[in-house]
Amino acid sequence: MSLFYRLLACFCLLGIICTLRAGAQGAAAAPAWPLYGRSVQIDPGLPYYRGRSPESIASELRAHGYRVVRYVVTESGSVNSALLRAFHREGMGVWFLTFANGTYSTRELPSGWEEWRMVTRATLEGKAPDASYTYLCLNNPAYRAWKKRQIAATLKAHLFQGVDIAEPHWPEYPGVTSLAYGCFCKHCLAAFRRRFPEESHLPDILHPDSPYSPANNPALWRKWLAFRVDSLTDFLNDLVNGSGGIRSQAPGVKVCIWTLALTERDGLRRIREDNGEDAGAIARVVGPDMHCFQTHWPDWIRADLKPDYVEGYRPFITQIRRANPRLPLMIQADIGSQPQNRRSWDWIRAFERHCARLGVTSTTLYEYSLGKYINTQPPRGAWFRCRRNAIALRRNYGASLEARTGFSCRSVGASRSKSARSSLCEYIARWPSWVRGHCSCGRSQ
Ligand SMILES: [Zn+2]
Repeated sequence: MSLFYRLLACFCLLGIICTLRAGAQGAAAAPAWPLYGRSVQIDPGLPYYRGRSPESIASELRAHGYRVVRYVVTESGSVNSALLRAFHREGMGVWFLTFANGTYSTRELPSGWEEWRMVTRATLEGKAPDASYTYLCLNNPAYRAWKKRQIAATLKAHLFQGVDIAEPHWPEYPGVTSLAYGCFCKHCLAAFRRRFPEESHLPDILHPDSPYSPANNPALWRKWLAFRVDSLTDFLNDLVNGSGGIRSQAPGVKVCIWTLALTERDGLRRIREDNGEDAGAIARVVGPDMHCFQTHWPDWIRADLKPDYVEGYRPFITQIRRANPRLPLMIQADIGSQPQNRRSWDWIRAFERHCARLGVTSTTLYEYSLGKYINTQPPRGAWFRCRRNAIALRRNYGASLEARTGFSCRSVGASRSKSARSSLCEYIARWPSWVRGHCSCGRSQ
C-alpha cells in the first residue's frame, strides 16, 4: 500500500473513531432513566407526602432500592414538576399513570361533560351513581378526544418517560348484578348498531322477561360481549395510535396498557365477559411497549392472599405470550388499600420473586405509603441514637428529621417520680413505634 493510501486509511479510521465517540457522548448526554423492573406507585396527594420536600420523597423510595416510579395522576393540573425532577436526580425513571374509564375528580372536565357519563345499571334503575369515581364512556367521541388531549398535554408539559393507561375496563365485577355495570348510553347503542346492523336494541339486563334479556336472547348477548371487547380495544388503539394519540404527540414515550387479572378458576372468562378485556387482542391491535396485569379487587382484598397468588395469573400471561412472545410484562399488587391487606416488605419481596419466576420482569405496588411497614419499620437510611443527655432520631433523607430531647433513654427508666415518668412516656408515645421500641417506658437502656 502506498504512503498516500496508508495516510488516507489513517484519516478515515480517525474519522470513524471521532464519529463513534461523538455519538457515544451524545448518547451519554441524553438521560437514560430506567423504565423496567421493580417499581412502586406513588400518589402524592396522600397524607404521608404532605409537607415533605420532593428530595426527601424521592430519596426515600430510592433508599428502598426502587429505580422506577409510577406517578398516579388524578388531576393533570396537580403534577408536581419539582417532584419529577427530584426522581430524575435520584436516577429514577417516571411513568405517568392515568385512569382510562373515568376520573376521581371532575374539576378539570369541560362544561357538558355530564353527557360523557356511562349509563350504568344504577342509571337504568334511577339510582344516583357512585360519587367517589365517575365512569366515562369509552365509546363517547367527545370523551375520547378530550382524553387524548389531556394525555398529550401532560406528556408535553412534564418529562415523563412512560405512560400507564390504567383501568380501561367496563365496570364491574361480578357482572350484570353490579350497580356499576355498563354502558348503555346512546353512543354505545350507535356503535353497537354500526357493528351489528341487524340489531336495534342493546340487551335488557333489568327485565328477565324482555325479548332482549340475556336469557331470552343469547345471540344478542354474545354479540354484546364481543362488542364490549372490541370497543374497549378500539378505544385503547385510538388513544395510543389514533390521530392526536400518544404515538404521534409524544413519540419517545413508552406506553404500558393495564388490564385486570383474577385468580378465580374461570378468571379469564370473567374478565372478558364482565369487564370486556382481552389482553391478547390488545397486545395484537394496540402494540404497547409493556402490558400490566392489575390484581383485581376480589384477589387483593383477601387478608390471607399469599405472595405466590400470581401463579393463578398464568392463563392471562399465556394470552399475551400467544399474541407477542417478547412483550415485557408487569404485575401490579395492592399492598394496603384496606386495613386487612396491608403487606410487609417480606410479602412484597416474595411477590416480586414469584413474578420473576413467571417471566414477568416488571412489578409495581399500590401504593408505597399504604404498606404495612410504614408505621412499623424504620425507614431505610434512618438511625437512632441514645446519648447521655439526649435521644437523637434522624431520617437520613434529603430533608432529614432530627428529634433531640433533654433526657436520655436511661433517665426514663431511672426516673423515680411517677409523674415525671408518665410525662416522658407521653412524649415518647408520639414517636414512631420503631423508635418507641428502643425506649420503652419503664425499661432502661
Ligand atoms: Zn356508552
